[in-house]
Amino acid sequence: METIWYRTEELRKRLAQTLQQEALEFTQTHHRKPCLAVVLVGDNPASHVYVASKTKACLDAGLDVLDFKLPATASFQEISSTVETLNKNKVVDGILVQSPLPKGIDEKEIFKKISPEKDVDGFHPVNIGALVMNPKKTIAEGLVPCTPAGILEILKDINFSLNGKNVVVVGRSNIVGRPISIMLSALDATVTVCHSKTNNLAHHTSQADLLVLACGIPNFINDTHIKTGAIVIDVGVNRLENKKIVGDGDSNKLKGKAQLLTAVPGGVGPMTITMLIQNTIRAAKQREQGK
Ligand code: NDP
Repeated sequence: METIWYRTEELRKRLAQTLQQEALEFTQTHHRKPCLAVVLVGDNPASHVYVASKTKACLDAGLDVLDFKLPATASFQEISSTVETLNKNKVVDGILVQSPLPKGIDEKEIFKKISPEKDVDGFHPVNIGALVMNPKKTIAEGLVPCTPAGILEILKDINFSLNGKNVVVVGRSNIVGRPISIMLSALDATVTVCHSKTNNLAHHTSQADLLVLACGIPNFINDTHIKTGAIVIDVGVNRLENKKIVGDGDSNKLKGKAQLLTAVPGGVGPMTITMLIQNTIRAAKQREQGK
């Protein structure tokens, strides 16, 4: 079988144009740009790179970005009071606290401090609760985690109908595996969630019409795990010793058996940033409506 090697560049550009237009309309109506505040703690080089690319994408889309840099020695209290100040700041629509935070800081507790209406990462219990209780509405209008939201855009772009399909998600983290499994189930797929304690992983994955890989193990899933014609969305971003970035799927082995395989890099990753822009614009609009 000829495998489609799917890159998101075109989709990302199309969505970016739409979001740019939405941001412009917001700016013309409210005489201010949608505004994202980014909190970066410490000097993790990868975090600096991520924040730089998020900032550039937001500025390109016509958003304002405010940077708040704290030293690696910042205490829980200091980070938390930065977030609380931003919660009260009237011009800030979205707050992003770049993960990972330095060792010893309870990230989940910091995320909880972000006001739910400014939670553009979609990690706050209120937003996760909305996703569980009212999934379709929350997917359409709410603040949902960015990577899963990006996966749904990919599925729309390839015209994959979820209704009645068998989907297997490998991974159950709070940022990818768990929220995407909730979303896909709400959109009428039959979803199986696999994790590190799953027995006989291949037994489950080989039933999948659609396989979402989010376990963070380089080249882990191969042709013995999938059925012919499966669609494989590879969320994994794993850096090998030789600096090469690979996914959770072994693309060389999946090629020829999968119908479609998302590229790593250049697949899910760029969609995550696009969805951050979407969430910031959504948050800005909802804050203006709530005034
Ligand atoms: P986590 O480490 O938080 O979670 C990994 C999950 O994989 C866990 O649920 C774990 O199970 C499961 N797992 C571990 N080993 C196995 C195994 N042998 N078989 C089946 N499942 C297993 O990772 P994240 O969700 O944060 O990230 C996953 C990958 O996605 C990473 O490569 C990360 O870099 C990438 N990523 C990419 C993003 C993007 O924008 N493209 C955004 C976010 C992440 P258990 O719960 O039992 O421990």
